[in-house]
Amino acid sequence: MSLYRDEGVVLRTQKLGEADRIVTILAKRTGKIRAVAKGVRRTTSRFGARLEPFTHVDLQLHTGRTLDVVTQAETIRPYGEVLAADYPRYTAGSAMLETADRLTHGEKEPALRQFLLLVGGLRTLADRGHEARLVLDAYFLRSLAVAGYAPALDACAKCRAPAIRAFAIVSGGVVCGACRPAGAAVPAGETIGLMTALLRGDWAAADASEPRHRSECSGLVAAYLQWHLEHGIRSLRHVEREPV
Ligand SMILES: [Zn+2]
Repeated sequence: MSLYRDEGVVLRTQKLGEADRIVTILAKRTGKIRAVAKGVRRTTSRFGARLEPFTHVDLQLHTGRTLDVVTQAETIRPYGEVLAADYPRYTAGSAMLETADRLTHGEKEPALRQFLLLVGGLRTLADRGHEARLVLDAYFLRSLAVAGYAPALDACAKCRAPAIRAFAIVSGGVVCGACRPAGAAVPAGETIGLMTALLRGDWAAADASEPRHRSECSGLVAAYLQWHLEHGIRSLRHVEREPV
């Protein structure tokens, strides 16, 4: 049997038989892994709690014919325990896990930048230094950028003209007056500025933004993400904005 080690974040789990689970993990070197965790639903399981969604774990697996099998799991950081006590942070984290799952397609295709963005996003959420929805919107924008869908924010997405009139999801970002399709949103300049700050990781600018621009930004980012994922992110509908 062929053993390998990796670290990863548990994205989701599903029941298998009487006592086992199939665990989907976004791993640092390997990419997305679906593996069997045997006996984890028994109360005597050595590592059941370490293989719950959100947990950053160090793993040893052996390669199976169809699914790999988890043979060891050590917790690096249990983000689920931290986030479970705070509903807006928990739902934002759930939307991150689902997005990471959706933006990484094949199993065992390395996705190091998506892994690093996810771990960084969960850590920023758990550290509580910034509003949960801002952290989530920053994660959405950056993970879309890594997946090749960065929105144009500084010049027209169609003709690169610098004069911006609207934000058009189908065009790929901001557009000029000539390229603006019917029905494109016309956000405040500050909203586009906030999206730029979140994409760059400029937290000083993002934290100083006004609630109305944050709301407008969240609406545009969610629509942009859902358009790219086609079927939408189910857990996003439970995300609530914290009082500011
Ligand atoms: Zn244009």
